[in-house]
Amino acid sequence: MELLKEYNPYLEYKNGELHLEGVSLKALVEEFGTPLYVYSASYIKDRFNAYKEAFPEALICYALKANFNPHIARLLGELGAGADIVSGGELYLALKAGIPANKIVYAGVGKTERELREAIEADILMFNVESRQELEVLNELGKRYGKKVRIAIRVNPDVDPKTHPYIATGMRKSKFGIDIREAEKEYEYASCLENLEVIGIHCHIGSQILDVSPYKEAVEKVVSLYERLTEKGINIQYLDIGGGLGIKYKPEDKEPTPKELAKLLEPILSKVKAKLILEPGRSITGNAGLLLTQVQFLKDKGDKHFIIVDAGMNDLIRPAIYGAYHHILPVKDEGRQLIKADIVGPICETGDFLALDREIQRVERGEYLAVLSAGAYCFAMSSHYNARPRAAEVLVDKGEVKLIRKREDYGYIFAPSF
Ligand code: PLP
Repeated sequence: MELLKEYNPYLEYKNGELHLEGVSLKALVEEFGTPLYVYSASYIKDRFNAYKEAFPEALICYALKANFNPHIARLLGELGAGADIVSGGELYLALKAGIPANKIVYAGVGKTERELREAIEADILMFNVESRQELEVLNELGKRYGKKVRIAIRVNPDVDPKTHPYIATGMRKSKFGIDIREAEKEYEYASCLENLEVIGIHCHIGSQILDVSPYKEAVEKVVSLYERLTEKGINIQYLDIGGGLGIKYKPEDKEPTPKELAKLLEPILSKVKAKLILEPGRSITGNAGLLLTQVQFLKDKGDKHFIIVDAGMNDLIRPAIYGAYHHILPVKDEGRQLIKADIVGPICETGDFLALDREIQRVERGEYLAVLSAGAYCFAMSSHYNARPRAAEVLVDKGEVKLIRKREDYGYIFAPSF
């Protein structure tokens, strides 16, 4: 029971049945079917407020990529969040969700000219620029629009965030940012470009960071750059230190809190006059959500057990691409005998699994399972692979239930082709 609360304080078994914010998950699957994503609004609000409390002066730009459901974006916007975007689609969403342009920051190594133009037209707070060529293109576009385009340079501090290599972004060998050793030169160059206004420094070292110590090294390097640039008369108004705080996936994981991060960084940031920006994604929505799936078949091959469910890698791809662990519980807890099983989806790939060799109660065909920590980078990474319509999404808020994305149908998948 206590373990459940560590994932999400609004998650509990009541009379042997799993509930989120007082809502029966069984009732939800009966109404909306499976696979079904369910998110807790109170959890999202709590997490955003935890950032606000830990960093009261900062602008918190929610990283839309983690979960880009418009209702969630709007909810966060109403709490005062800005947005960290990485595409034209995310710019469109942020503006539609009511997030003001002056709270939007735009990162990404491969922004297209169309995307750059759209963001200039929207007059976003700043572009987090990732290459010399991007600086030049933005300067050119600024000239065309008769505007000074506000930029930060995304610097790559070459810090190992001790996370999965696919989500480590701040090491020299990664494609992101500009090598911090080259940064001063690039800042000097950018400052001479007529149609740019250099206003910030950006870095983001990676995602799912459970041990916060790498932030110290990264922010120290960034603050040292800030001091050197200030001495040169380059007026840095914003220090954007990215996102990345990790969340509990495994029962033994200990989640760092925004407060812990603030405490670690306070002595380093105390000398900085620039406004701080943070870009959390996973740590706001990750443990707000779970994925409900129905057991289709049970199959034994000798002493190897398979639980075959109706959610596949098209719905939740993290186990397949990162070997990620998601805790999985039966919606109905009957304290049954535990077995070890592979919990697999219906897709024609051996990599289509939610869990391997997992201890779980001996469930039956037709029962429901809840896959925890599924509020970030889960629906957001879903696809139509095997011509499967994507899942529905529901938001629960203190007993209230709102369908925030309808289940797709076959026609929806094929509409662009006919
Ligand atoms: N900012 C940038 C530039 C990112 O690339 C990402 C994700 O990788 C984030 C913020 C959000 O990271 P997280 O969801 O780990 O907080």
